[in-house]
Amino acid sequence: MKKQVRILSVLLRVLMIDDSEKDAELVLANLSDAGYRVEASLADNARDLKMLLQEGSWDIALCDYAMPTFNPFDVLTLLKEYKVDIPFIVITGAIGEENVISLMKAGCHDCVMKNNLMRLPEVISRELAEARTRKENKELRESLQVSNDNWVNTFDAISDIISVVSSDYVFLAINRAGAESIGLPKEQIIGKKCFQYVHHTLGPVPECPCTCALATGENAENECRMGDRMFLLQAWPIKDVHGNFSSFVHVVKDITDSKNAEKEIIRAKEAAERANAAKSQFLANMSHELRTPMNGFMGMMQLLEMTPLTEEQEEFLRVSRESSNLLLAVINDILDYSKIEAGMMKFEEVPLSIRKVLEDSAALFRLASTKKRVKLGTFVENSIPGQLVGDPFRLRQILSNLIGNAVKYTFEGQIDVSVRMMEEPNPGKVRLEFTVKDTGIGIPTEKLEDIFKNFSQADNSNTRKYGGTGLGLAISKELVKMMAGDIRVESVLGVGSSFHFICVFGRAD
Ligand code: ADP
Repeated sequence: MKKQVRILSVLLRVLMIDDSEKDAELVLANLSDAGYRVEASLADNARDLKMLLQEGSWDIALCDYAMPTFNPFDVLTLLKEYKVDIPFIVITGAIGEENVISLMKAGCHDCVMKNNLMRLPEVISRELAEARTRKENKELRESLQVSNDNWVNTFDAISDIISVVSSDYVFLAINRAGAESIGLPKEQIIGKKCFQYVHHTLGPVPECPCTCALATGENAENECRMGDRMFLLQAWPIKDVHGNFSSFVHVVKDITDSKNAEKEIIRAKEAAERANAAKSQFLANMSHELRTPMNGFMGMMQLLEMTPLTEEQEEFLRVSRESSNLLLAVINDILDYSKIEAGMMKFEEVPLSIRKVLEDSAALFRLASTKKRVKLGTFVENSIPGQLVGDPFRLRQILSNLIGNAVKYTFEGQIDVSVRMMEEPNPGKVRLEFTVKDTGIGIPTEKLEDIFKNFSQADNSNTRKYGGTGLGLAISKELVKMMAGDIRVESVLGVGSSFHFICVFGRAD
């Protein structure tokens, strides 16, 4: 015997449509016996039913088949009208098969015979489960529709031409830009062979990236010109769940503007490089041309110094000599910088003494520092070998520039120039750190990076106040780089600055 459904206290809101209260109670008692906690409302005419449909909500509708003024078809029409989608079960005496079929066609879910009400709990349980599934499916369909709409809208919003093409070249999907480029509505394109519409040929075109992607199963792309526009054509193969190549995404991107911009950038870069090389060449030539007459002045001034002069003439000569020295320094800076820029700076590899180079560099500024009552001290760590190999002239140039700046920008206190050994993995090399520390005016934090750029000064009034071109540190930085090192500065405004640079030298032995 079939097992009876036993429901454990589940609330069931029943919409009863019956003209006999007694019959209705019998039905409901049957449900209570099966374990439902039943809440029911009864109607036997359209007016009452409409009122109930407006006011309440139900899990199930149970409808008597034979009523004097109402029938299940009218009830079904009203349920539809009020958009009430719940299982609808007709309780009936003997009705013919044809009537049952008409009821089912009208939307009834099942018919239960009055003399077999024991079946009702089982039918209700099954119909509620099916109603739940129907509801879930409906929600699933709706969310699928939303995500499909989102996908299509996104696809259509892209200005590149995008299509999905099957492995036998049939359009499966195409975006708005694609349909516009072909000049037909999407519906007329989908399902057609792509080569007919894109290339106007009877078969696939060998140079099309789709043909290439099909043959290799790999992404493919190429560029092509159509009229005065350039296009990038790409094809990405798509694999199905079994890993087989099923279709590909084909993208056509108009790259005319970016190609033109790219060409323009290359042209501008080449023009800038040519201009820069011409400028460097010009500066190198000019500096050379200027140095020759400068040497003439200076030689003549030296000769003039040896002749008998009045006190006034001696003063004129002193000022002329100082001015010439300054001018020569500027010309030398410009010449060096243009040599570096033009890649023409040469380095020597000769024996050198660090102590001597340091002392010689400091000696150039002793007189100036003594005049300012600023102490200028030097210190070389004992462990530093007496002889090394490198370019003494370039090292002196860096040190002179840093010491010269320290003297220029310090008005009290002292300047310390020191050298220490650093670790160096290569046994044939020596790595040294040079420090030039002063108690001068300092450099604002926001200028610390800029001062190493060419023609850059911490304060724009520097040239007027202290002279200089703003090239010394830029040259030093490049020279240090060429000696496999680096330069950095620490400074506190009003307290002083410390310039550190590292250079690598060869061992002499
Ligand atoms: P300049 O010929 O102007 O001295 P540099 O390239 O040697 O050019 O220096 C760039 C700028 O860095 C200087 O104008 C100055 O503002 C700042 N500077 C360099 N050294 C010092 C220092 N020891 N103390 C303070 N400011 C400094």
